[in-house]
Amino acid sequence: MTGRPIPYGHQDITEADIQAVVDALRADFLTQGPRVAAFEAEVAAACRARHAVAVSSGTAALHLAALAVGLGPGDAVLVPANTFVASANCALYAGAEVRLVDIEPGTHNVSLASLDRALTTWLRPERPRVVVPVHFAGHPVDLPGLAALARRHGLTIIEDASHALGAASLEGGQWHPVGCGRWSAATVLSLHPVKHITTGEGGVVLTDDAGIAAAVRSLRHHGIVRDPALLEQAEGRDQPWYYEMQALGFNYRLTALQCALGLSQLSRLPAYLERRRQIARRYAAAFQGLRHVRLPVEAPWARHAYHLFVIEVDFAALGTRRVEVMRRLRGEGIQTAVHYIPIYRHPYYRKRYGLDPADFPETEAYYARALTIPLFPAMTDADVDRVVNAVRRVLGGER
Ligand SMILES: *Cc1c(COP(=O)(O)O)cnc(C)c1O
Repeated sequence: MTGRPIPYGHQDITEADIQAVVDALRADFLTQGPRVAAFEAEVAAACRARHAVAVSSGTAALHLAALAVGLGPGDAVLVPANTFVASANCALYAGAEVRLVDIEPGTHNVSLASLDRALTTWLRPERPRVVVPVHFAGHPVDLPGLAALARRHGLTIIEDASHALGAASLEGGQWHPVGCGRWSAATVLSLHPVKHITTGEGGVVLTDDAGIAAAVRSLRHHGIVRDPALLEQAEGRDQPWYYEMQALGFNYRLTALQCALGLSQLSRLPAYLERRRQIARRYAAAFQGLRHVRLPVEAPWARHAYHLFVIEVDFAALGTRRVEVMRRLRGEGIQTAVHYIPIYRHPYYRKRYGLDPADFPETEAYYARALTIPLFPAMTDADVDRVVNAVRRVLGGER
């Protein structure tokens, strides 16, 4: 008996969510309007940011954040090699170039030592301008350390917090939520169904900088400005119909229907985080005896949001291959995944930059061992038991 398949991640949609979307369908505004503003205010409060701007995807949020900090041709953006392609693509959308950086063992976040080395030996014609740290799997990056390094090298920080809504860092005796703006110019969230909360598709730019918030707000709506105080041309100040396009923007708006869903989902964020952490503790206890398996770490100063639960498996020592392990787990109804194929291994990046995997030893070592097992709040205790039993059976080799 295998039971229903368990994916590696899945949304949780309640009757209250469905009712919230139905109510929004009956309201005056299907896009923009009060639900968008309410959702933005709640996300900003949850992350302790001054401003939140909702957009159509996490990728759109990265794109607009890159434009809003003034990124353009002649600039370079430093991105960890172990991430989803969107973290790097935003630089190219803005006309800048990507420079990949190796990760650190343990958290699998960007290595500050590699970053510092890259910057001190910088040879390329582009000017290093922005760094995009990714809070991989939900473990926060060492932001105070990164901010010190960024200050030294004149870099702007855009956090990719697609995995890390609800994660936090301890500094000065206080917990600071990811997105709070203490260390960076802007932070980006994704609201894709596998992420902490979802709007179907969706993203948010968080910032404490009113100028960045205004730029993102305008760019998500064709680069159009209506606020009389922000107009470039005086002619419109007393004309109620007047608006002007000041930059080449996009239609990256999030609908009121999606924001209604987001608001409803957000009310369960604390419970979601608690459940994710509970499942992670359960896995850690169950797998700690497996000889060829390394478990995720949580630094003493970090609160992990556990978007993903990635184990590192020494497949060679186990006398098997990853594809075989994945096949056997799938046979038991358990879906696994690999996060991520390093960016330099994708044909587009390989051709564009001619990158050599040997330049990223930690990313390569991690990539050879990584296996993401199911973790999402809607998992039942019975689902968790099934994953535990199957993984123990397939990865055997007790210490
Ligand atoms: C999900 C994700 C994105 C992109 O978000 P979308 O909402 O799917 O556009 C960007 N970066 C990382 C690390 C992600 O996991």
